[in-house]
Amino acid sequence: MSDPILQTKGLNKSFGAVCATDDVSIDLRRGQIHALIGPNGAGKSTLIQQITGALKPDSGTVHFLAKDVTTASVSARARAGLGRTFQISALATEDTVLENVLLGAIGAAGGIWQFWKPAMNNKGLRARAEDALVRVGLADQAQTRCDSLSHGMRRQLEVAIALTLRPRAFLMDEPMAGLGSDGSKQLTEFLQGLRDDAPILLVEHDMDAVFALADRISVLVGGRVIATGTVADIRSNPDVQQAYLGDTA
Ligand code: ADP
Ligand code: MG
Repeated sequence: MSDPILQTKGLNKSFGAVCATDDVSIDLRRGQIHALIGPNGAGKSTLIQQITGALKPDSGTVHFLAKDVTTASVSARARAGLGRTFQISALATEDTVLENVLLGAIGAAGGIWQFWKPAMNNKGLRARAEDALVRVGLADQAQTRCDSLSHGMRRQLEVAIALTLRPRAFLMDEPMAGLGSDGSKQLTEFLQGLRDDAPILLVEHDMDAVFALADRISVLVGGRVIATGTVADIRSNPDVQQAYLGDTA
């Protein structure tokens, strides 16, 4: 079996007396969607932030593409291919879809804002941005202003921006949040295909989406992984039912 793309080993992170991440070891494998579920305050976002590099673990390691990145910066990890979807607020809402993706492509090429105008006419960057839009199915919206996109399309746009970095893995923290049921269904379908581009570590509360998408699921409760397995394993696990799933299983 191939090495995992992403792996945490024994990650610990406390905030004062709160142990937000308690000895967490998980791995993300090629071609898979690995869902991370658990109640509010379980430590899901804290774990994701230690993987992106936004938070420094107290102890433990993060390996990405077989390299130890535990002390690498957020931007170094991003350049190495660790993609994450951005918050909606990161979109320039008055600009067009294509302009937003181009901004991402400029960042991917190591550029900065002052090169914005020339970048608009840079064929290589434009091609990279247009390619990302094709891959998320937004090519025909290239000239649409972001503020007239549906919530679901905005999420697709965020993925397009992340794709300009040519990610080798994706981290997504509650991408379905704020979407209605149609939007969630649409995004679920879209994520189905995305795992072939790069595996996804997916934090999500929407259990319909999780059960439809996940190749494997890890359940976090009080900072600890209480179970990891397939959808069937997790749905039938009595500890998980008691701690989190209740009736939804
Ligand atoms: P989840 O994403 O699963 O809802 P979080 O990772 O956001 O959980 O939070 C885990 C625990 O850590 C919670 O008890 C939360 O209050 C605490 N926590 C998270 N971030 C901080 C912080 N920056 N400072 C203090 N406590 C925090
Ligand atoms: Mg969270």
